[in-house]
Amino acid sequence: MSLIVMKFGGTSMAGIERIRGVAARVKREAEAGNQVAVVVSAMAGETDRLVGFCKEASPLADPAEYDVVVASGEQVTSGLLAIVLQSMGVKARSWLGWQLPVHTSGSHSKARIHDVGTDALRAALAAGEVAVIPGFQGLTDDGRVTTLGRGGSDTSAVAVAAALKADRCDIYTDVEGVFTTDPRIVPRARKLSKITYEEMLELASVGAKVLQTRSVELAMKEKVRVQVLSSFSDEPGTLVVDEDEVVEQELIAGVAYDRNEAKVTLISVPDRPGVVATIFGPLADANINVDMIVQNIAADGRTTDVTFTVPRTELARAKAVLEANLGAIGYERLDINDEVAKISVVGVGMRSHAGVAATMFRSLAERGINILAITTSEIKVSVLIAEEYLELAVRVLHTAYGLDAAA
Ligand code: ADP
Ligand code: ASP
Ligand code: MG
Repeated sequence: MSLIVMKFGGTSMAGIERIRGVAARVKREAEAGNQVAVVVSAMAGETDRLVGFCKEASPLADPAEYDVVVASGEQVTSGLLAIVLQSMGVKARSWLGWQLPVHTSGSHSKARIHDVGTDALRAALAAGEVAVIPGFQGLTDDGRVTTLGRGGSDTSAVAVAAALKADRCDIYTDVEGVFTTDPRIVPRARKLSKITYEEMLELASVGAKVLQTRSVELAMKEKVRVQVLSSFSDEPGTLVVDEDEVVEQELIAGVAYDRNEAKVTLISVPDRPGVVATIFGPLADANINVDMIVQNIAADGRTTDVTFTVPRTELARAKAVLEANLGAIGYERLDINDEVAKISVVGVGMRSHAGVAATMFRSLAERGINILAITTSEIKVSVLIAEEYLELAVRVLHTAYGLDAAA
């Protein structure tokens, strides 16, 4: 007998018919003698709808109340799945975030999980009851509801699996696993049977939303065995594993893209020591994540341009911070472009192979795609390009690194 956590995403939970399909899978695992905890997302589109209500109610909605609203989507699906399971003769009940409880930090809309209470959960599982847990939601120390950031149900599932020391954490979604790139953009993307934690972490952090970045971070730290697989087929999925479990390591594991990027350029910044701190200090204080940074050499010896990217969703705030600090920074003009996208290639093979970046630059140049900024890490190269070339660039790179499936 195993203890397993099964997580079902929004598409898998979209409507009662699909919830019946989910319940059938859960029933199969329970009847095979396993203890089963299920973590569910809201129905596809529901969280967007709830976010929309909050924005309409007030553009500056109180983050604590925003969480009360957006956490509700998962409450609905957890109750519905418990009802359907019961109707199929499976003992089941829901356990909301505040009932377990899932303790989190107080940073509303992007809270971090501190710990998951397991006493009641363990008792329920031991009594043969399926526990249905809404993902994405938690509770602060002073009793307020929080949410974990978009895609956060993955992190809920891994946290529950870690707390229960589960044998497996199966993440059911609308594709058959982790692919060499988003299969919705590149039909010739290949499913990976295994991917290392490190590569999955890097891919997620540069935009591959198949798993939320924090869920991979947590799985790596707590050694949770994560498998990504489809709710709609019985094909084997992708296992996220340690590097030594991958026998033949490819040079590149995958290509990812991120549309949530905006480029900011400060034109004619005085070139003096400390000026960069006057730009990025206030942005950090405002909790704005700066990603790529390019600083040019001062052509005239006195002024320089500084370019960087911020998430598009934080552009308005970034602009306000920079304008408020115009006096201290002393730039001439602010140039903003939010029609950009970031493309990244990721692979642990890069550590021991030269030329990965060169292949990327050459392939994009051959298609006339201009690179606006570049960043690298040990196992990743990212470039910023005009958003209109995004799909073309992903396809070109996927081919250039030999990732296309055989036709
Ligand atoms: P869920 O609602 O199940 O959490 P998500 O929409 O959050 O599902 O994540 C699954 C989606 O991730 C897929 O439909 C796919 O379009 C996208 N995706 C992006 N990159 C990849 C990749 N490398 N492999 C698989 N899916 C990817
Ligand atoms: N429902 C939430 C979202 O859409 C959490 C999740 O599905 O993982 O972001
Ligand atoms: Mg998701």
